[in-house]
Amino acid sequence: MTESFLSIRGIRKKFGSFTAVKDVTMNIAEGEFMTFLGPSGSGKSTTLYILAGFQDPTDGDILLNGQSLLSTPSHQRNIGMVFQRYTLFPHLSVGENVAFPLRIRRRPQAEIAERVQAALKLVRLDGFEDRKPALMSGGQQQRVALARALVYNPPVLLMDEPLSALDKKLREEIQFEIRRIHQETGVTILYVTHDQEEALRLSDRIAVFSQGEVDQIGTGQELYANPATHFVAGFIGDSNFIEAAILANDDGKARLALPGGTVVDGVPMHGGKAAGKASLLLRPERLSLSQAPVDAGLSVTIDDITFLGNNIEVATQTSNGDTLSVRLPFGHRAISQLARGDQAWLSFDSSSTHAFA
Ligand code: ATP
Repeated sequence: MTESFLSIRGIRKKFGSFTAVKDVTMNIAEGEFMTFLGPSGSGKSTTLYILAGFQDPTDGDILLNGQSLLSTPSHQRNIGMVFQRYTLFPHLSVGENVAFPLRIRRRPQAEIAERVQAALKLVRLDGFEDRKPALMSGGQQQRVALARALVYNPPVLLMDEPLSALDKKLREEIQFEIRRIHQETGVTILYVTHDQEEALRLSDRIAVFSQGEVDQIGTGQELYANPATHFVAGFIGDSNFIEAAILANDDGKARLALPGGTVVDGVPMHGGKAAGKASLLLRPERLSLSQAPVDAGLSVTIDDITFLGNNIEVATQTSNGDTLSVRLPFGHRAISQLARGDQAWLSFDSSSTHAFA
């Protein structure tokens, strides 16, 4: 994999006085699956449309193999695209839909026939050439769109929420297909979604968008274990946040006072503050629960206990009213002896959590 196969450099996009994308920069390696993840309106699609050539950036550049793409019109960028809505031509058969990009490139008939067959085989729709799109399910139509986007072997494939119109089961099935196709073809994919589970399932790396900016880029595991911002910590994985007072902050390791007065040391601290308030991240699955008081533990009251198959979710409340969710494995010892309204203690490894100023 080369480091700067596709390079997005300082991209900014203004609509009137509103800045939808602010200084987005990243390098994407050849063959990588990169996902833009973020809530609605965070600038993911606008960034993708700039890559596709549907919109011009206000500032910045995009380089593919070292060459700027900006002066190349959209249809000559040789980038495949799949969108949320099925964009198939309804009057054309499946085979003709898939053949379309090759026809406008004036490829010979024999080559078209061969490539259409190969693309339909890739998406497991061989035998459907003569079917009209209206007679196919949503999932099948999206697979035809995928075959059409890949039929001319583009080096880059852009996908904007391609599964959001499908139900959960179908979505998971096609996620699996997309992963297989990515592995089989080696095409570089840029994928937009607001669904963290989808992003984690599919991607080599994820760029987390928030308010037009990329907060952090990393593998799913990196984003989960080492979130750079409060937003990333809240968006990837399940999270509780409690307010803590900063007692000291040495080189990014903080000493914090928690509700009830418990002091914890050595918490990785983001943002340079040495006093004032911080928000402490406590992942539900990384909290320990016990009936007896523990050192550096947090005293809580049990609000509710819910059995969820493999897990038990315990809703707790701190002395100052913060609610904290705890996830324990089925059969956890403490649970059989606890009931609603009981007092308990939560503990955690302070070096593996994070605080945000
Ligand atoms: P979604 O998933 O809802 O599409 P997104 O993260 O992809 O969200 P964008 O579609 O990139 O977000 O939009 C970013 C911001 O820019 C939004 O506030 C949107 O309203 C605004 N925006 C997008 N296109 C235009 C436009 N053509 N004119 C004015 N504002 C726009």
